[in-house]
Amino acid sequence: MNDGRRALAELAHVEGEYLFLRFGPVERRYPLNNFSEDDHEYVRNWSSKARCGACNQPLTTRSKKAGRKSYHLACFRCVACGKGFRGGDRFQIDQWGNLGHVEHIAQLFDCDSCGRLFPRKGASRNQVLSDNRVACKQCRDDAVFDLEELKSIRNETTVILKEVGISPPEGAIEWKLVSRRELDNEAKRIHVGGNLKGLTVTQLRRVTSKSETITSFSHKVYVLFGLPKSELRSVISHELMHVWLNERGVEAPADVIEGFCNLGSDQVLRQDPSRLAWILIGNMQTNPSPSYGAGYRKMMAHLQKTGWPRMLAEMKARAKKP
Ligand SMILES: [Zn+2]
Ligand SMILES: [Zn+2]
Ligand SMILES: [Zn+2]
Ligand SMILES: [Zn+2]
Repeated sequence: MNDGRRALAELAHVEGEYLFLRFGPVERRYPLNNFSEDDHEYVRNWSSKARCGACNQPLTTRSKKAGRKSYHLACFRCVACGKGFRGGDRFQIDQWGNLGHVEHIAQLFDCDSCGRLFPRKGASRNQVLSDNRVACKQCRDDAVFDLEELKSIRNETTVILKEVGISPPEGAIEWKLVSRRELDNEAKRIHVGGNLKGLTVTQLRRVTSKSETITSFSHKVYVLFGLPKSELRSVISHELMHVWLNERGVEAPADVIEGFCNLGSDQVLRQDPSRLAWILIGNMQTNPSPSYGAGYRKMMAHLQKTGWPRMLAEMKARAKKP
């Protein structure tokens, strides 16, 4: 940050062992120990000042405290009506620091990917996708609608998963970018429900001759179109974990399966320096769902004890005997 990088990037946010630098509209995460002692000093100095929960700039004399954060008077206002909050006003805040009156929520969109609150008025038409999902400007600008782009992200995630022992699929995968309705229809056919962003359907073929049985797999993986790249990485890696389990015939309760697949998302998101990736990890850590949230936390605690090789061996041991 001292060596000219500061001119390019602005320190936006510090959280635990990480700092987030803002490059134009994008924030990226870096481990603090990547930086020099001078930079550490700069960060300590930066963090020692009380900062506004909305804009992250130092708080001057007049500020307003709400919940665990304080705000500049100018920042402590509703993004829908633009008015400042007064005592007794009820408001909602997103993870990026945007605030809105509870009674003005109907005038706000809530990004389906990153949770950002933004005014409906002024949103451009392409921020409402054809299946009525909503994207903030940042997520919309980063959205993937193209299968070739999906495949290059799949290549990246395959490499990251391979590092922890998830070998690439044996069977062919047909990837499909679909709308929410198409995804839900496919899910219904195999009796799966919920707020899905991806779905894996595996077909197993067994050919038995006199001497041996040959098993082969083919997979269809459905992924929502229009996801920003970090979220797409997370969904693709989750589905690749399903493919790995399916090819090994693993059978386990939903919390074990979905929790395990989210470990793949976690692995990939941790190597993704965007602020969105960090928020998506945070969402898994607080997700109330028994399988995607509690299952993930349970499997993560187990992974931290066992490490990947033993975790994968234990999953394989759950394979249904043919
Ligand atoms: Zn502020
Ligand atoms: Zn308002
Ligand atoms: Zn967004
Ligand atoms: Zn899943």
